[in-house]
Amino acid sequence: MAKESVSGYTSLVRDCYRSGGYVFARRAGSAGEGEETCRVARLASNENPRPPSPLAVELGCRALREANRYPDERMGDLVAALQDYHGPYHFVTGVGMDGVIETVIRTLVCPGERVAVSTPTFSFYALAAIAQGADVVNIPRNSDFSVDTSSFVRGAKDAKVSFLCTPNNPTGNVTSPEDVEEILSSIPGVLFLDNAYVEFCETDYRPLMKKHGNLILGRTFSKAFSLAGLRVGYAFVPEWLVSCYMRAATPFTLNSVSASAAIGALGDREHVRDTVARVRRLRKKVIEECRYPAFPSGANFVMVDVSPSTGREIAERLSEHGVLVRSCESFPGLGPHYIRVSIGEEWENERFLDVINTL
Ligand code: PMP
Repeated sequence: MAKESVSGYTSLVRDCYRSGGYVFARRAGSAGEGEETCRVARLASNENPRPPSPLAVELGCRALREANRYPDERMGDLVAALQDYHGPYHFVTGVGMDGVIETVIRTLVCPGERVAVSTPTFSFYALAAIAQGADVVNIPRNSDFSVDTSSFVRGAKDAKVSFLCTPNNPTGNVTSPEDVEEILSSIPGVLFLDNAYVEFCETDYRPLMKKHGNLILGRTFSKAFSLAGLRVGYAFVPEWLVSCYMRAATPFTLNSVSASAAIGALGDREHVRDTVARVRRLRKKVIEECRYPAFPSGANFVMVDVSPSTGREIAERLSEHGVLVRSCESFPGLGPHYIRVSIGEEWENERFLDVINTL
């Protein structure tokens, strides 16, 4: 059994190891009672706790047997599978949605040009923009984390690319397609709408692609499709963007194993349906039963206000009981008193509720 460290689960822990797909922690028992072992509830990274679809595993393994060959640069089979799944849109792919974000910025933004970000939100947009030498402007959300469309439009007026995440990480709230459309019609640049968690809500932004040539919808196989480890992201893009993106991207945007597994994942709709049904059921339970106020969420996580404690204090206390959650203190523009808890397996969220309700 390989030893590993699980970030955030440090106090009292002697070591961690992985077995049967789970992570366990050994810690010293109290007052010389010997050693305790407990399975760690991993609720810090918004992963899907379920393994990938068997079809994804089968196609990935088959591709591995032919890995002596380079993959198709245009990812033709994956693009065809995406068109089969979603309809006749234009797609680009990348190493996770992170890779897509980075390539979109490299394609569209020159050093010194502006990138706007609706905050608090996922921090990678600003990191990727800064790496490109862009000038990043933050557009603060309202105090309930909704997007003020007129202040967004004002903040994005000189931006080449603007980022808006819906459902938003870490707040969980959803921006309506009507508000997105108002923004799209009023900004001169491109809007990157990050839909990493969209499968878990009931809102569909795809119809906006048909009407607006300045919209990119970012998607990932890391969440609803259970393939976080394979790093597969993609985006719906306007037709004009495809060839510029391909020129700016590294020659092979994905490896053949990841691309084939993604095709398998798209082919198993039952797997995604089960995941989404579990997330919606457990999310409701977490929001209703947590003794701290939890925000409504359209994603596979929930943000909880743990004031007067800080997020860091509560995350640390939870980790002492084998529950890993994310303290939100590192999200710029958010106060210090929030945690983000993923929707995992039933036992993981049960443990989270049992522990947090005693803190
Ligand atoms: N966007 C958001 C909002 C995310 O939370 C994440 C990952 N946590 C990503 C994009 C990147 O996802 P991927 O694993 O596809 O790189």
